[in-house]
Amino acid sequence: MDDYFPRPKILVSRCLGFDACRYDGQILKNAFVEQLQPEVDMVTVCPETDCGLGIPRAPIRLCNTDAGLVVYQPATQTDVTGQLQATIATILQENPEIDGAILKAKSPSCGLHDTKIYQGVEKPHPLKKGAGVFGAQIQQHFPGAALEDEMRLTNLILREHFLIKIYTLARFRELCAQPSMGALVAFHASHKLLLLAYNQSHFRLAGKIVANHDKEPIVEVLRKYREELVHILDTPMRIPGVINTLYHAFGWISEHLRPEEKQYLINTIEEYRDERLPLQAATRLIEAHALRFANQYLLSQVFLRPYPRVLAGLHDSGRGREVR
Ligand code: SF4
Repeated sequence: MDDYFPRPKILVSRCLGFDACRYDGQILKNAFVEQLQPEVDMVTVCPETDCGLGIPRAPIRLCNTDAGLVVYQPATQTDVTGQLQATIATILQENPEIDGAILKAKSPSCGLHDTKIYQGVEKPHPLKKGAGVFGAQIQQHFPGAALEDEMRLTNLILREHFLIKIYTLARFRELCAQPSMGALVAFHASHKLLLLAYNQSHFRLAGKIVANHDKEPIVEVLRKYREELVHILDTPMRIPGVINTLYHAFGWISEHLRPEEKQYLINTIEEYRDERLPLQAATRLIEAHALRFANQYLLSQVFLRPYPRVLAGLHDSGRGREVR
């Protein structure tokens, strides 16, 4: 089994453990960011301090006005939209390619989904929740990347999905750096079970792209494949798709197993279905059997080891899955 993992490129809000740069001079410790840091290439950003608002600073807020969305600092009665947007443009220019981002939830700059947006600048009242200015731009700029806030990543399913996505995108990015049809065929083959678990019908569409019956140039094939890959990885795997995939993997080893071993594996898969065991319980068991019988097909599958083991963790707040 290949133990090589690429290093995903990740943007992170700097206040998440790197600098005391929040408006009130605070820093926020984040266990997942700490765990991830040695394994990935992180670039930290703080649009508010980078644009010169200072630390500490008076809070800013997003206000919906007739002229559009305005970033306003009530204490100084200043519209800071222009300076913030200019800094964001520089950040995006300096980081043309990322696999993902971990941004601070609820921030008027970094928030991705749940920033308060007010109606009007004078006597404002809460209107709705949406993305902060940087959060909105990053979603527009990197529609296929794994973009999450730190609060949603306390949810086990969302965190696993985030890890799977950044490592899959990083592997694909490495492939694109030295493109060849052979490398794409190998990528598709080793990701078969993973992509099947995510989305069976789109996995087949990706397979047609790899077959390249129209003999299109490799650049075009890779562009289409990435589009499909991003679509497949858009939402976390769902249990029925994963169960089908686990039984598919089971089919590769079942003939070698004694009846009681088969039953044990089936019970483990079913306990995962009933949400009494994490997915890793089933994949580890399949991997152990694959090692025992030297099943090279299963051992080549990213599904059994989609990201470094050191990043696995079972803590789960259960929160955040409802926000998309
Ligand atoms: S949320 Fe974003 S802008 Fe605000 S302090 Fe953190 S990194 Fe800076």
